[in-house]
Amino acid sequence: MARRLTGFTPSGDLHLGNYVGAIAPIVSEQDSADTVAFISDLHALTLEHDPADVRRRTLEFATLLLAAGADPDRCLFLIQSHVPEHTELHYLLECVTGYGEAQRMIQFKEKSGRQQQVRMSLLTYPILMAADILLYDAEEVPVGEDQTQHVELARTVAQRFNTRYGETFTIPRAVNPPVAARIMDLTSPSSKMSKSAASAAGTLRLLDPPDILRRKVMRAVTDADNEVAYDPATKPGVTNLLDILAACTGEKPDSLATRFDRYSDLKTAVADAVVATLTPVRERYLQLADNPDHVQEALRAGATRARALASAKVQQAKAAIGLLPA
Ligand code: ATP
Ligand code: MG
Repeated sequence: MARRLTGFTPSGDLHLGNYVGAIAPIVSEQDSADTVAFISDLHALTLEHDPADVRRRTLEFATLLLAAGADPDRCLFLIQSHVPEHTELHYLLECVTGYGEAQRMIQFKEKSGRQQQVRMSLLTYPILMAADILLYDAEEVPVGEDQTQHVELARTVAQRFNTRYGETFTIPRAVNPPVAARIMDLTSPSSKMSKSAASAAGTLRLLDPPDILRRKVMRAVTDADNEVAYDPATKPGVTNLLDILAACTGEKPDSLATRFDRYSDLKTAVADAVVATLTPVRERYLQLADNPDHVQEALRAGATRARALASAKVQQAKAAIGLLPA
């Protein structure tokens, strides 16, 4: 059974794209795949952040994953900073990564280009991500295109470490998320729905109340001819609505297209399907949020189980690279 790892950085608000692309697959495959799901709170510190926000979102994201059905008894479920081995391995991996390699990362260039003060951790964050992956011997890392280069770096670093210091790490690979469809922003369907989107109108948040979800869907951008067809190139807005409907109902988007004559009927069906998909998650979230002790307990148990694996891996890496055992 392949081990698969997914991280969620607690910045912005989790949305339908995260749900269908990452959360629902974790839940539906936690028995058939050996799953690691974690909140990458350390990654949220690479950009300017409000400490109270990061703390609140870390708990919110963990609670949402539990509400969606992630089961800490069937997968490894943890907060990154609760397992100090992530940062310990990060340092060892820095010792096998070139400065130029880190600097070449496209995300680093894009994000650092937008700021005056660039944190050192923004440069080294892909190496921390490599540590996240290699610590658990993850074989598969489901990521979108934007993260493929970071998984490639993790592969390179693992191979180099193994060659120089002896077989230590499993070589991971990026895999396409099980749901091929990428959910796009409702107001600008050429960009993906994202936690860091500038406007909230195009993002269906997991915690949006039903009337807000409906309003956002009804106002989604389509195009002028009022003909429902599945065509990503010429009809990105309508195609995205069909992809959302398909993701929420389990049907095929092109066959769904034949069932609607007008955009308004399609939008109503999409709104109903989104509300039906997200309402149970939101309601369960509200119940769990009322009982934070239960969530904290799940997180403590998750960290304990994770540390058992992680500390063995770090000991192995420390010994291989030349450190004297304590
Ligand atoms: P950010 O803008 O901060 O990068 P994000 O919305 O892309 O936020 P991530 O934390 O980068 O969220 O990703 C969490 C998981 O959700 C990843 O597995 C990613 O592939 C998946 N994911 C993110 N956006 C989408 C989307 N629009 N459609 C499908 N899957 C998505
Ligand atoms: Mg992203």
